[in-house]
Amino acid sequence: MSRVAIVTGGTRGIGAAVSIALKDAGYTVAANYGGNEERARKFTEETGIPAYKFDVSNYDACVAGVAKITEELGPVEVLVNNAGITRDGTMHRMDAGNWQAVIDTNLGSCFNMSRSVIEGMRERKFGRIVNIGSINGQAGQYGQVNYAAAKSGIHGFTKALAQEGAAQGITVNAVAPGYIDTDMVAAVPEQVLEKIIARIPVGRLGKAEEIARTVLFLVADEAGFVTGSTLSVNGGQHMY
Ligand code: NDP
Repeated sequence: MSRVAIVTGGTRGIGAAVSIALKDAGYTVAANYGGNEERARKFTEETGIPAYKFDVSNYDACVAGVAKITEELGPVEVLVNNAGITRDGTMHRMDAGNWQAVIDTNLGSCFNMSRSVIEGMRERKFGRIVNIGSINGQAGQYGQVNYAAAKSGIHGFTKALAQEGAAQGITVNAVAPGYIDTDMVAAVPEQVLEKIIARIPVGRLGKAEEIARTVLFLVADEAGFVTGSTLSVNGGQHMY
């Protein structure tokens, strides 16, 4: 049996590594993306994984996107809420638009997507939801009140939904990556990045594949007793 998995933001960075790991493990994968057509096309060409464009910050778009994937691939049993953005700035410079965009894309998306799949998971008494949080949601970060609030919200969201799903065969967990070598981190200025790496006990950035491996563990059929957890994958940077 090949379970159907949706990975939001699944065509590049951490999401692409998760999509590929799931496919390699035998899942039927749908990779969502937001607007980068070129990367999505290249990803599908290279992996054979179909890409579905819709905006995860928009509830109606998520409902329609999930309906299309269900029609084409089958009922969704695994959801990885990975899509995310940063719009950094200190509070006194942050405009309301950048606050809202980060909340809607990083946290609102978890509601929009989970709401779109939860009824089917409850009916079939099986589901796996993994939400990608962040070390900066656990510890806070200068210049990221919007991002830290959204990611911190993901951890509460995870624990609450885990309680609702527990008796229905649905597990809900979070992964909190530390600094991972993707486009998102490439946007950090080099001198800031050097200081960040100096604070990572393992002495390097993480790899997207290392997050994918964690997700693969959490979505496995055999992981039914792991729910409401946050797995920190950060090279030892913060130990909670
Ligand atoms: P990238 O910037 O490399 O990729 C982001 C992905 O999200 C892209 O596929 C993008 O689509 C998609 N996306 C963004 N906005 C939307 C939207 N509105 N609708 C649908 N898709 C959207 O990010 P990373 O791979 O680095 O990060 C992935 C997740 O991991 C994020 O949630 C991030 O916050 C989190 N994280 C990352 C860390 C890191 O160090 N990199 C550390 C901790 C957490 P498109 O290609 O179309 O733009």
